[in-house]
Amino acid sequence: MKSGMPENKITPRSVGTDVFKTELTGSAIPHDEADKDYLFYILYTRLVSAMTDTNGIDVELIENLLIEICLMLRLSKAETRVFKNSQEEQQGAGETLCCFDTGKEGREIKSIRVVTSVMTSATIMVYMVPDEEPLTEDEERKVDLVMRTVLSFVSRNRLKNVIYELAYFDELGYPNLRNWREYLDEEVKEKRTANKLAFRYNLRHFSLINQRFGRPLGDMIMKDHFDTLKEIIGEDGYLARLGGDNFIGICSSTKTGAVVDFLTETEIRTPKGVAVNVSTSAGFFRIPDDHDAQTDEIMGSIINAYRVAQNGGMDNIIFYDDSFKDKKLKSMKIQQCFSEALEKGEFRPFYQPKVNVENGKLAGAEALCRWFHGGKVIPPFEFIPVLEQTSEICRLDFHMLECVCRDMRRWADEGRELITVSINFSRKHILNTYLTETIAEIVDRYRIPHELIDIEFTESTSEVEFEDLKRIATGLRNTGFDISIDDFGIGYSSLNLIKDIPWTTLKVDKIFLPEESDGGSDVRSIMFRHVVSMTRQLGLECIAEGVETVQHVNVLKANNCEIAQGYYFDRPLPVEEFEARLAKGIYDIPQ
Ligand code: C2E
Ligand code: MG
Ligand code: MG
Repeated sequence: MKSGMPENKITPRSVGTDVFKTELTGSAIPHDEADKDYLFYILYTRLVSAMTDTNGIDVELIENLLIEICLMLRLSKAETRVFKNSQEEQQGAGETLCCFDTGKEGREIKSIRVVTSVMTSATIMVYMVPDEEPLTEDEERKVDLVMRTVLSFVSRNRLKNVIYELAYFDELGYPNLRNWREYLDEEVKEKRTANKLAFRYNLRHFSLINQRFGRPLGDMIMKDHFDTLKEIIGEDGYLARLGGDNFIGICSSTKTGAVVDFLTETEIRTPKGVAVNVSTSAGFFRIPDDHDAQTDEIMGSIINAYRVAQNGGMDNIIFYDDSFKDKKLKSMKIQQCFSEALEKGEFRPFYQPKVNVENGKLAGAEALCRWFHGGKVIPPFEFIPVLEQTSEICRLDFHMLECVCRDMRRWADEGRELITVSINFSRKHILNTYLTETIAEIVDRYRIPHELIDIEFTESTSEVEFEDLKRIATGLRNTGFDISIDDFGIGYSSLNLIKDIPWTTLKVDKIFLPEESDGGSDVRSIMFRHVVSMTRQLGLECIAEGVETVQHVNVLKANNCEIAQGYYFDRPLPVEEFEARLAKGIYDIPQ
């Protein structure tokens, strides 16, 4: 501080960063006018340079300078308010940014209001105690100058804040991806990521929560979930939203248990006290302490774990480990050679018979894909999930349909009696608005009656998918194709799925079939009985999958489930072997 300047005897009490208040503890304002004038311009010059410092704003310095200026100009109080809209202004609400207050009762002596583009308006008001001498003309000029300087500073800062908010926060106020990346870059640069736990998660079925409670309450539930997790991960962690119901974060690995527990499932209460269970699919990556993981590597690992978590059926919390790298390599190899393999005809259908357990008749077949590659037969679980990641699965499904139609045309031309063949169609198709037309075009090209083609879909995972599935399934049904729900019971079966879509067939998953050791009254048998009875009452055909034993066949018969598919009768067969079954057309049924 320049010599001759009064010692600052004011103690500022900072509230937040922009707001300041003072407690008057004494003053050392010079009495001589020339000194005062000199001091004012020194203070003012310092104030302007502090407010425009490109190296960063020292809020405390600005506060102290303003305090000194206000005291010097004999003000008792100065207040700046910004209003985001005219309603706020009318109600006298708004945000108070700069506030100097001696606590003495004063009257307003001057106010200035400005309208800017980033806030509707801002007002600055200054007060003096009534027994104070009125401001001289010169003082008034100074007060005016300082008020306008403060207003311009506030608007400029506001603009900076608005730009910052737009760049680093999304529309609901969550830190966004850019925010996250800059945070992570800094952590990586400062070598603070070792041993930390990074994760990415998605709120499961959040669209259902939105649908049940409405969007505004859905937003509140999401925010509550976010804030609670933020509290769990604490100060040395970070959490951001990637968009929609997708989030990413990092925290100390000491919090692993708490974070995993929370993300597995937690109960959030609405303001009215209704409990909502929120669960997530989450991929975790524990950053090793012995290597300098770079941002992209960390991001890649979290995303890999997350993808596995998302596709992993019931296992929704996945930790990244090195085996992921091998899997990734394998996936890349499959993706690279898929197109060529498809063209070379390496993907072929095997046919698994469906058998009527009442009369032993061959009732239909399911085409299941096999990949003949490098002298080996590769089963679907090795390549279908990989192809589903990129939607290449759609090309495979159309290829399979084409192969099946070609076989059926040949069987018809050979004078064989045709039976219904089902083909699995991935859920990836359901966004295709021309799916029905494309399927019909292929089937018609081979002159196969539509009712002999059955398209199997697995259950959808979200309400959004459900609407698309309904549209597609209804379209197919109206075009004469059969449609089946595959693997019923292991996904997220909902009664709406059955009620609102005109299915022809429901395929009950093998988990409902009793084990050898089960008695007749176990939960599985009870559920099986009710699923079959419900299916029949709704007029749908019911097929039990995974029928492996005589006992299974008997359970089907006892519960009036007519059609069986499973190893007891046949495994999926190469076409020539299946043709032999087609010729015979009948199976022995245990009595
Ligand atoms: P899915 O559609 O539910 O097919 C039934 C699966 O159960 C087949 O496995 C079949 O071999 C197996 N299975 C049949 N009977 C029994 C049994 O008695 N016991 C047991 N434990 N399993 C039995 P696969 O052929 O390995 O196919 C697996 C899954 O891959 C299929 O399940 C289907 O979801 C998918 N998939 C197969 N081919 C295609 C295709 O061309 N396109 C699409 N999108 N998915 C396909
Ligand atoms: Mg199937
Ligand atoms: Mg199935």
